[in-house]
Amino acid sequence: MTPLLDILRQIVGAPHVLTEGDLSAWEQDWRRRSHGKALAVVRPASTAEVAAVVRACADNGTSIVPQGGNTGLSVGSTPDTSGTQVVLSLQRMQAVRGLDRDNLTLTVEAGCILQNVQQAAADAGLLFPLSLAAEGSCTIGGNLGTNAGGTQVVRYGNSRDLCLGLEVVTPRGEIWDGLKGLRKDNTGYDLRDLFIGSEGTLGVITAATLKLFPQPAARLTAWAAVPSMEAAVRLLGLAHRQLGAGLTGFEVMGQFALSLVVRHMPQLRVPFADMAEAPYCVLLENSDSESEEHARSRFEALLEMAFEDGCVLDAVVAESISQAKGLWHVRESIPLAQAEEGLNIKHDISIAASRIPAFVAHADALLQAEIPGVRLVNFGHLGDGNLHYNVQAPADGDPKAFLREQEERVNHLVYEAVAQFGGSFSAEHGVGALKVDKLQQYHSPVALGMMRAIKQALDPKGIMNPGCVLPRQDAA
Ligand code: FAD
Repeated sequence: MTPLLDILRQIVGAPHVLTEGDLSAWEQDWRRRSHGKALAVVRPASTAEVAAVVRACADNGTSIVPQGGNTGLSVGSTPDTSGTQVVLSLQRMQAVRGLDRDNLTLTVEAGCILQNVQQAAADAGLLFPLSLAAEGSCTIGGNLGTNAGGTQVVRYGNSRDLCLGLEVVTPRGEIWDGLKGLRKDNTGYDLRDLFIGSEGTLGVITAATLKLFPQPAARLTAWAAVPSMEAAVRLLGLAHRQLGAGLTGFEVMGQFALSLVVRHMPQLRVPFADMAEAPYCVLLENSDSESEEHARSRFEALLEMAFEDGCVLDAVVAESISQAKGLWHVRESIPLAQAEEGLNIKHDISIAASRIPAFVAHADALLQAEIPGVRLVNFGHLGDGNLHYNVQAPADGDPKAFLREQEERVNHLVYEAVAQFGGSFSAEHGVGALKVDKLQQYHSPVALGMMRAIKQALDPKGIMNPGCVLPRQDAA
C-alpha cells in the first residue's frame, strides 16, 4: 500500500506537504502554551483536494486538525504531541468566489483572511462587519469554526449571524454544497449552524456565503469615564434606547487594565486614565445611515442624558477618524499590555449584561479574599455581556510559581461564580483542547449526550480534531 504521505503529495503536490524544518507556525498555538508535533502540514488549494486529503486520512485512520490563521485562543488548531496528526491548513484557499450586490452576499473560500474579506466588501461599497484584533491573520474558516464574535456583535451578531451558507468536506470526504445564500430556508435540520462553532470536529469548512450590509454614512466613537460597572450597564441601556441599531460597539475597560496600557505603551493617549473616581471607561461606537452631523447630534444627546443620569462622569467624542482609531487602538492594546506586564490567567466569560455588576462585585471580592495580592484585569464587549475577566499575578513574587500554584484555584473560583450567575465559561473563544473538562463540568448530561451523538453520527471514526470540544474517548 502507498504510504499516506506519498498519497498526500500526489493530491496537493510535494511542496505543500510539509514535514521538515521549522513548523512551529502550525504546531504551536498563538499564546505559545501548546507545542505539538504534526505528521505533516498539508496545504490543499481546492475543495476537491481537501476532500481527497480527508478521504486518504480517513482510509488510513489518521486524524486531521483543520487550521486557518492559527490565532485561536483555546488550543483547537494545533496538533497533539504524538506526531501522528495531519494539520490541514486552509491558507492556500483564498479565492473570492463571487459577490451578489442585490442579495448582499459575498462567497469566499475558507482560507481568506478576515481583513481581505472586509476589504472585498468595502471595494463594492458594502460592509462585512465582523471585526476583531486578529483580523490581519485569522481566516473566515476559523472565524466560522469558532463562531467568532469581536467588536460589532451588539449590532450585527456573531459569525453565525453573518453566514448564510457553507461548503463543507465531511469526515468521510464528501462535499456538502450549502452555498445557496438564502435568507429563508426551513427545510429540515440546519446543517450550517451545526458546523459553525464546531471547531473543526465535524468537518472542514471550505467556503462560505456571507451577509453584507450597507456601509454606514458615518461612524463616530466616544470614550466615557463611568463611576461603576452599574453605571456602565445603565449607559448601555440608554445607548440602546437612544441609538437603536446605530449602536455598533460598546466596550468596557477597568482602570487597572488601562493603567497597564499607560505603563507599557506610553505613546498611546488614554483619556481619563488618572481619574480616581472612574473605575471603568466605556468606548461607544455610533454608526449612522444619514450623516456625520446626524450621528454627532444623536451621540451628544445620548451623552447629555447620561450626564444627567449620573452614569457618565466625563466623555469625549472623537473629532476625526484617526482619533477614533486611536481610541480603538487603546482598547485593542490591553491584551498586549497585559502580556508585557507578565503572566496572567485569562477568562472569556459571558453573563446577561443586567447581572454583570453583581457578578463583578461578587467575583472581585471572592478573588481578593482568597488569593492575596491578586490583580484583576477586567475589560471586554459589555454590549454582548462578554468580559475578559483576567487575573494578573501579584506584583511581587514569581509569576510562574503563581500560575503553577494558583491557576486551577483561580479558574475554579471564576467559573463557579459564572455558573452561579447563569453565564458561560467560554463566550467567544470556544472550547478547544483547553476547556474540554469545563464543558464536561458545566454542560448538562442531556446536552453532552446530544453532542456525542452528533459527533458519532458525522465522524464515526473520530478523525476530525480528536480531543477538541469533546474528550477523546467520546469522539470515537
Ligand atoms: P484557527 O486558530 O486556525 O482555528 C480555530 C478553530 O477553528 C480550531 O478548532 C480549528 O480546527 C477550527 N478551524 C479553522 N479553520 C477551519 C475550517 N476551515 N473548517 C473547520 N474548522 C476550522 N475571537 C473572538 O471571537 N473575538 C475576538 O474579539 C477575538 N480577538 C482576538 C484577538 C487576538 C489578538 C487574537 C490572537 C485572537 C482573538 N480571537 C478573538 C480569537 C481568534 O482570532 C478567533 O477565534 C478566530 O476566529 C480564529 O480564526 P483562525 O483562522 O485563526 O482559526
